[in-house]
Amino acid sequence: MFHALARALSWLALQALPLHCLVCSEPGADGLDLCRACHAALPWNDHACPVCALPLPENEPAVCCGACLIDPPLQAAAAATFVYAPPVDQLILRFKFHQDLAAGRLLSQLMLRRVPAFLTEPLLPMPLHRKRLRKRGYDQALELTRPLAREMCLPLWQGLVRQRATAAQSELGAEARQRNMRDAFAVRSAPPKALTLVDDVMTTGATLQAAVHSLHSHGLRRATLWVCARTP
Ligand SMILES: [Zn+2]
Ligand SMILES: [Zn+2]
Repeated sequence: MFHALARALSWLALQALPLHCLVCSEPGADGLDLCRACHAALPWNDHACPVCALPLPENEPAVCCGACLIDPPLQAAAAATFVYAPPVDQLILRFKFHQDLAAGRLLSQLMLRRVPAFLTEPLLPMPLHRKRLRKRGYDQALELTRPLAREMCLPLWQGLVRQRATAAQSELGAEARQRNMRDAFAVRSAPPKALTLVDDVMTTGATLQAAVHSLHSHGLRRATLWVCARTP
């Protein structure tokens, strides 16, 4: 209740403020809390593997990357709006760890400017463990996904839960990440046949893979991923 009220109040406060660039504090432009110069410098991830969203060198064709050819991931397709690089990395950190909901709103608005072509399915915000939710006060993937679902007229599906508090993925190596994710999710209701999982950052993709794995064993046929930023 308190969190819902706090969120509603901060949303109202955001609506009342004039637009200002969250990166450099100049006036915002084009309906965004971002100035034209900072907008022009955004690290869009427009040249990437269509399966895992890994950014690819400009001189290589944007086709399935070597890693996906050798060991195909569980998802059918993936898109990341940005490469995880300045200033997007700072915006994500502010949104995730410093209660900066304006940064989250800006990231959602920017994600809507590069809607992946595969997007026709219900959206699943990557769930947060309730312990972490209690500590943070809001669920960043849900905050990011809600405006996307609203704008795209797509339903939200939230039948997946984190059943085990896992160590922060950012503190672990690749192998430890996979171990960390085993049995991390539980499926609470039958998923639709197809879903798009939404998250803020994709690093190795181990968390998303673990989620898709759990959903597949409950009848999900086709998973696609849409993340705000992908680490190179
Ligand atoms: Zn700026
Ligand atoms: Zn790939």
